[in-house]
Amino acid sequence: TKTELEPRIEISPLTEWGLNLNYPLIIAGPCSAESEEQVLTAAHALARNGNVRVFRAGIWKPRTRPGGFEGAGEKGLQWLKRVKDETGLAVATEVAMPQHLELALKYGIDMVWVGARTTTNPFLVEQLASVLAGTSIPVLVKNPITPDLELWIGTLERLWRSGITRLAAIHRGFHPYERSRLRNIPKWELAIDLKSRIPSLPIICDPSHIAGAANLVPEIAQHALDLSMDGLMVEVHPNPAIALSDARQQLTPDAFTNMLSELTFHQNTS
Ligand code: PEP
Ligand code: MN
Repeated sequence: TKTELEPRIEISPLTEWGLNLNYPLIIAGPCSAESEEQVLTAAHALARNGNVRVFRAGIWKPRTRPGGFEGAGEKGLQWLKRVKDETGLAVATEVAMPQHLELALKYGIDMVWVGARTTTNPFLVEQLASVLAGTSIPVLVKNPITPDLELWIGTLERLWRSGITRLAAIHRGFHPYERSRLRNIPKWELAIDLKSRIPSLPIICDPSHIAGAANLVPEIAQHALDLSMDGLMVEVHPNPAIALSDARQQLTPDAFTNMLSELTFHQNTS
């Protein structure tokens, strides 16, 4: 039953993941890796901001509707490899299928995340877990699109059972169904409940997918910090207006730097 497994889940602190991470962990980068130039421009701008430790970029994009940009695929992994070599930032991407994960491991990606649409699918999560068994790559698990805490915990448990102890959760909000100011409603109480169910689990907020609009990102980020969340994952694009996905919510590198300088960071005890 659910209470048998979850209290035994002990996550190793992210400062011990071998990637020079700190609290609060700042992950930033474009929604999608679009070209080598876009990726490297974003990465060098972010590397100049000493607070960023991990560069994010989607290589396989789970678009809600077909017909849009579906990601650069394998060649994008080479761009991320360049980011790692040239900036020293750790690099992270989304994996949704065993093939994605195998390629990410082959190219030395430092960290992967399971997207909101994949967290809902126990079959895929089990397949990812079998590829992960025996590796030490950290895995971040986004909340499912629906506000179902058990499904979120279930995915974490499936990964933990395969031996992954470098785990964190990403809170990216929940589909609102009705019209709402925010793209995804935060339902902060679910993130708080998750922390009480698995106290050693770092929880990182993704204010970009909650906000859905660049001007609303800072207030969501501040709320997450006020709740003592363990980090932020923020979408940053050199030129958001021409982004191939999530154009409205991405910050320019300057707006991002500005936001970080204006946020109030609290003492973090995790
Ligand atoms: C993303 O991080 O760009 C993404 C696709 O996010 P989510 O899975 O939260 O929708
Ligand atoms: Mn996105």
